[in-house]
Amino acid sequence: MRLIILGAPGAGKGTQAEGLSKKFGIPTISTGEIIRNALRQGTELGKEAKQYIDRGLLVPDDVVIEIIKERLVQDDCKNGFILDGFPRTVPQANALDKMNITIDKVLSIEVEDEKIVERISGRRQCSQCGATYHIIYKPSKVENVCDTCGGNLIMRQDDAPETVENRLKVYHEQTEPLKDFYAKKDLLTVAFGQEEVSDTTEEVYKALGVE
Ligand code: ADP
Ligand code: ZN
Repeated sequence: MRLIILGAPGAGKGTQAEGLSKKFGIPTISTGEIIRNALRQGTELGKEAKQYIDRGLLVPDDVVIEIIKERLVQDDCKNGFILDGFPRTVPQANALDKMNITIDKVLSIEVEDEKIVERISGRRQCSQCGATYHIIYKPSKVENVCDTCGGNLIMRQDDAPETVENRLKVYHEQTEPLKDFYAKKDLLTVAFGQEEVSDTTEEVYKALGVE
């Protein structure tokens, strides 16, 4: 299964990708996570990306295309993968086409803008290992402490309300056109995001035709 997940920031792409990844035994590749890791480690890539991320802008296409190219040739991608957060622009989608990889399906998770803003305000992330939580929908066992590593849970800097507005705008302008792009290739399937993670998962399974 080679799957692309589309959706606005905070639509639940990462959470659904994590579940599908376990279910199918294939890796999730999140360009956002790769970039945030680089940020935490203070690499060149991290430094370059920071100026864009903090303003809610996309990192330049050539940068993320290079990241994906290097990632998809690794061994663990042989039996499939889930792309979370890539492609995010038409040029990125064209670049993926050129890599000669057959995509099986493109899943779009739909959530209204008003809900997005509310959801993102509750998002938390482990400052050490990057595990993701939500104060209502996916709380940690102990408040502000990571279940996996005991690290401190913090809000992503780009989850600040002003930045979220920008990210939504960027999503509608630059990423949403990809729905048409993949619908024309007959690859698009849609799931509507629900209040509860498990209900969304059910919608996702239906959309993908899996049990
Ligand atoms: P979300 O889906 O919640 O917006 P991500 O973790 O996918 O969060 O992305 C966070 C940020 O990383 C984006 O706002 C953008 O700046 C950058 N980024 C991630 N993936 C891409 C991409 N494919 N192209 C350009 N920028 C990206
Ligand atoms: Zn952790």
